[in-house]
Order: sequence, then C-alpha cells, then structure tokens
Amino acid sequence: MSKVVKAKYTAEAVQGFTHRTALEEAARCLLCHDAPCSKGCPAGTDPAKFIRSIRFRNVKGAAETIRENNVLGGTCARVCPYDNLCEEACSRCGIDKPIEIGKLQRYAIEQEKLFKMKTLQAPAEKKAAKIACVGAGPASLACAAELAKAGYKVTIFEREAKAGGVLTYGITPSRLPQAVVDHDIAQVKGLGVKFVFNKEAKAEDLQPFDAVFVGAGLWKPSLDAHGFKGANLKGVYSAIDFLKEARTKKKDFDPGNRVVVVGGGDVAIDCAVTAKLLGADDVRILYRRSIEEAPANINEFHYALSLGAEDC
Ligand code: SF4
Repeated sequence: MSKVVKAKYTAEAVQGFTHRTALEEAARCLLCHDAPCSKGCPAGTDPAKFIRSIRFRNVKGAAETIRENNVLGGTCARVCPYDNLCEEACSRCGIDKPIEIGKLQRYAIEQEKLFKMKTLQAPAEKKAAKIACVGAGPASLACAAELAKAGYKVTIFEREAKAGGVLTYGITPSRLPQAVVDHDIAQVKGLGVKFVFNKEAKAEDLQPFDAVFVGAGLWKPSLDAHGFKGANLKGVYSAIDFLKEARTKKKDFDPGNRVVVVGGGDVAIDCAVTAKLLGADDVRILYRRSIEEAPANINEFHYALSLGAEDC
C-alpha cells in the first residue's frame, strides 16, 4: 500500500510555477497565429496573448490581459476545467503535451499579488445610474466589475459575512485557497464597488437603485428532487451543505469517521478530500464508472487517493 499523505485542511494541494519554470513553460508555446487555446476559453481570457507576455517577461501585461475579461482570473486558474477547454485545444497536444495554461495563469496572478500590480482601472468619470447586485458570488462579482469598469456605481448585497459565494463556502481550500478568492475580490473592491454584508436585500433596500442584478446562486440542494431516499436522515449531507459547514467551522467540523461520497465530479472529490483532511478514517468514493471516466480533474482525484480515500 502506498504511503498516505498528511496535509492541513487549508494547505493547497498543487504547487504553482516558480519564475524559472513559468518561463520554461511559456517558451514551449508555439505562439500560434490562430490561437486555438484562446478560442477554447469561454471566459475570453486570451491565453495566447498572456502566455506571449510571460514569454517576453512582461508579467504585468499578462496579468492585465487575464483581468481584462476575467476579474476572477486567480480563482479560474485554480478551478477552471482548463484540461477540457484551452489546454485540450492547444496545438502542442499534437506534438507532445499541451501548455500548462492554468498554471501559467496562476503564476501571472501570483506575481500581480506579490508585486502589488494595479491591473484594473475604473474610469474617473462616473455615470449617474446606480446598480445593485444581489449576492456576492462569482456571477455578481463579475457583473459588478464590468459595470464599474463602464463607470457605474455598484453596490453588492450579501447575506453572509463574506463575499465569494460558492468560491468562499463551497470549494475545499486545498483546491481554492481563501487568499486567492480574497485577492480577486480585492480587484472588484479596487474598482470602487461597495459591499453590504450580513444583509438579505429586500425590495425596499433595492428601491433607490436604477437597475438590479440577481446572482443569488444555487444553494438549495436537489437530493429530494432526485428522489434520493433517506436524504433527510441524520448524517446525510448534500455536497454544498457539507462543504459549507466544513469551510465555516474548519477543524471544529466533524465529518464522521466513516464517510461515503457518491459521485465522481470535482465537488464529490472536494467532499472526499474535506472528510479526509478533517479526520475521517474511512472515506470511500462511490462512482458508477471508472476513475478514468470520472469528470473530476484527475490530479484532484489522485490527491484524494493520496490522502487515503478509496475509490470503489
Ligand atoms: S494553442 Fe498552445 S501552443 Fe498555441 S498559442 Fe495557445 S498555448 Fe501556445
């Protein structure tokens, strides 16, 4: 049996590039004229452009390119399924292996933070209209950033004590550290967006605004809707409740000693990792197909297994 890895709940599972390895990786890029990687990015992050900037040691330019269309660039570098998107489209797939685009994006944003680079700017001239966003999850954060860049005054109402929504409460920190989410949120704040926390927005709160964006998220688990018998029994959690409770209580959260996780996606693996890191002895991942067919990122799956979780 291979050695079981010990790690802290908040420790990041995957290491990023150093300056040297980032430059080496960027040097493998073919600088494709048609940039299939950029066409494969649904967020319009333009990997071909930011990789070119890294290659020519213009790291600030790389971070600006990432932030321009994607204010959550640091978060996306950790949780975006780039192996099925930009990396799958990369021309180097036909030669040896794709450029590690996600890790290069992570490197650029880490440098932005390290050197306190200012990569986004709100216009000095403001528009008169005031806009409210309900919820401080990724949809509202992205919406607020775009509106602020267009000169609007934006206020975000959030019922929780922190911004980020599912990024802050629904993903295990070994995959998405809170510091990464907070740094992305700081970019939104830097554009002048105001936040009102611990406030469930009512109609009267929204009355003074000219327009309202509702990004309330999908916090209602659908176990009942799927006819999952026993969903209400003690010890049965939906993934979102399990992850949120763990993120809120951290080491005071007791996941139980024997845990079965049903599913093979990223969220299921987050639950298995969380259970293991918070003290469960026996964690089993129950998935209907093989590990190779599981939709979860394979590195995350291997991380869960390295912690001692078992697939069955
Ligand atoms: S497709 Fe791959 S090799 Fe071509 S520009 Fe994009 S990252 Fe570079």
